[in-house]
Amino acid sequence: MKPERKGEGVFVYPKLDVYVEKIIHNALYLQQECRKVGVELTVVTKVVRAMPEIVIPLRDAGVGSFGDSRMQNIKRLRDAGVENPLHLIRIPMLSEVDAIIEHADFVFVSEIDTLKKIVAAKGKRKTAVLFMIDVGDIREGVWYEHADRSLEQAVKIAGRRLIGLATNLGCFGGVLPDETNMRMLCDLGKRYALPTLSGGNSAALLLIEEQRLPKEINHYRVGEAVFLGTDVTRNRSVPGTDPDTFILQAEIVEIQVKPSVPVGKIGQDAFGRKPEFEDKGLRKKAIIAVGEQDVIASGLLPLDPKISVLHASSDHTILDVTESAQPYKIGEKLSFRLSYGALLRAMTSEYIFKNIVV
Ligand SMILES: *Cc1c(COP(=O)(O)O)cnc(C)c1O
Repeated sequence: MKPERKGEGVFVYPKLDVYVEKIIHNALYLQQECRKVGVELTVVTKVVRAMPEIVIPLRDAGVGSFGDSRMQNIKRLRDAGVENPLHLIRIPMLSEVDAIIEHADFVFVSEIDTLKKIVAAKGKRKTAVLFMIDVGDIREGVWYEHADRSLEQAVKIAGRRLIGLATNLGCFGGVLPDETNMRMLCDLGKRYALPTLSGGNSAALLLIEEQRLPKEINHYRVGEAVFLGTDVTRNRSVPGTDPDTFILQAEIVEIQVKPSVPVGKIGQDAFGRKPEFEDKGLRKKAIIAVGEQDVIASGLLPLDPKISVLHASSDHTILDVTESAQPYKIGEKLSFRLSYGALLRAMTSEYIFKNIVV
């Protein structure tokens, strides 16, 4: 381990320790498991905003391709010298088509007008297109029952630049990937002779583990399982991955004994929520200097299992430390693992110092 890099001046906390070697382990392990069944893995970097200090070591370790939902992130990788195939995985804004042709090798579309604009655009790359099919999750993609109408048009417009189909499950409707919805993609792919079938994200890894993935599916886009070792849709950790990839350290600024229920008439909290309180009498509470601006407080997972996270406002998170054997004091740092949502926000917060541990 290298010595810690200094934070911005004295502003070191809250601090997010990033264990790059563990992320590399997860990426290479999943890439290998996918390859065993003929699936090429694209590592999705949006949860870390494609931070080059994380992505470049992944590339150097042998990760083949990357994807991101934001063109700014893809451009950030190009500017950092990453020449690997890059996928824009969010269906594009019409206003970013020129940037796509400049920087992205693959793009996922669901609208014929977007496809026309991409095909007509002139730029550095001949960006290849995958058409998104909605097989049930009601997020992006043309609804499977009338996919033919769009695909007939798409083939005419894009010709060989239309290389495949993709679907996304588990993210909005929470629909689980299974043989039935994967088959829908395979059947359409066969009808239009499209070689690339991009079947899934972290929630679809189970199909590979259980050898239930139709063999025609040959591409996955995976973020969460690489960066956190989890699959939130199925509420499980992914076998073979390391979960200790990111640790947030936040500093205690108050420790006092207080009632567990507020005193006075109760309205809404700072975010318009109506918090619920269980009366457990007097409790020892700690306030840490991190809040909803930096994380999703309910996604903070204390390494001390005796601590429970109660509630947070923008800048304060309140913990119940009564049950802990540790004699916590102000100035001490508490450590947390993060949920996907909490990590996304932490990476996006400029108030959190990202400490890259190599
Ligand atoms: C975010 C995203 C992924 C990656 O999902 P994970 O659950 O993080 O593996 C894949 N495809 C699309 C279209 C996405 O938006």
